Amino acid sequence: LGVLLNSLPHPCRILLFVNPQSGKGQALTLYNSHIQRMLNEAGVIHKLIITERQNHARELVKDVDLSQWDALVIMSGDGLLHEVINGLLERPDWEEAVRTPLGILPGGSGNALAASVHYYSGVSQVTGEELLVSCGFLLCRGLVSHMDLVSLHLSSGQRLFSFLSLAWGFVADVDVESEKYRHAGAARFTVGTLVRLASLRIYKGKLAYLPASRGSPRSAAKALPGPPDALLPPLDQPPPSDWVLVPEEDFVLMLAMHQSHLAEDLLAAPDARLADGFIHLFYVTAGISRSALLRLFLAMEKGAHLDTNCQHLVHAKVRALRLEPGAGKGIITVDGEVVEYGPIQVEVHAGLGRVISG
Ligand code: ADP
Ligand code: MG
Repeated sequence: LGVLLNSLPHPCRILLFVNPQSGKGQALTLYNSHIQRMLNEAGVIHKLIITERQNHARELVKDVDLSQWDALVIMSGDGLLHEVINGLLERPDWEEAVRTPLGILPGGSGNALAASVHYYSGVSQVTGEELLVSCGFLLCRGLVSHMDLVSLHLSSGQRLFSFLSLAWGFVADVDVESEKYRHAGAARFTVGTLVRLASLRIYKGKLAYLPASRGSPRSAAKALPGPPDALLPPLDQPPPSDWVLVPEEDFVLMLAMHQSHLAEDLLAAPDARLADGFIHLFYVTAGISRSALLRLFLAMEKGAHLDTNCQHLVHAKVRALRLEPGAGKGIITVDGEVVEYGPIQVEVHAGLGRVISG
């Protein structure tokens, strides 16, 4: 998995969702200035849908006649793609629907999948409008690959899907606090990181994971819509014996990456690939100094944080994990979006989705 699957037909028909509020509020302007002509010249027939509110795209995707379209493309940040993927997997015909090629044009402030796809294509890191144009070319070329999706279970019983990340602690707090700097575009994460460093804190919780080298499927739990999870025990039972229980319970952050980039200029998991079948787990234990944590984030711009030999940073490739945050309030984000706070467990579904890539 991870290798090229096929190409979009020519001419191809795409449904393009643009979130006019994403990023600095310029996605529609960027569409008009960069994308519209590029698609027309490449013979890409497209219908534009301007999203009007949160969950608008998710609702449309649940009902759309997918036989009319060769791909669904999102021009926004990662949040809108998260909606579209979950909409597809909520359909009764999810098995067919999830095979719809998805495209991403970076129009938001958190454009991590666009940056990841661009990185896998082997060219040097770019940001902003350069990244947009580059992703526009990839879209016109129309090469489709498998992409891992990760299934998540929340303590309320809700199940959802993620294509990018699961974050708790420092990174999740920055994600949410930096919303107020969104006029700064992608720089919001840099500003947010510096602000949060000034009030660095410890997050209590328990973490357990199934290393990628272990794990035999157990019988799938009660039937939920969408693909069954074969590795996860019920959330109220202890993790199976082949799981690793992390001994520390004081953390600064937990970050599970399904693709390489956490933001346009944060290469969190340099060896991640579209459909490698791994969740790239990182955690930082309490005791790290502010300056060491800052060094980690600065090194992450080039993907060099694992070379800093920081004793507090742990990395593992896993297939499933469980996080049980301690009592109290807190923030957990999935693909940069806030989800219910509490115990959560996840399992990777290798190559379940499809994405237009390089
Ligand atoms: P950004 O990276 O800028 O945060 P996202 O794609 O993550 O961009 O979008 C942020 C949120 O905006 C998503 O949760 C999405 O559902 C929501 N959204 C979509 N359309 C609209 C709209 N017209 N007005 C407000 N919010 C919207
Ligand atoms: Mg977002």
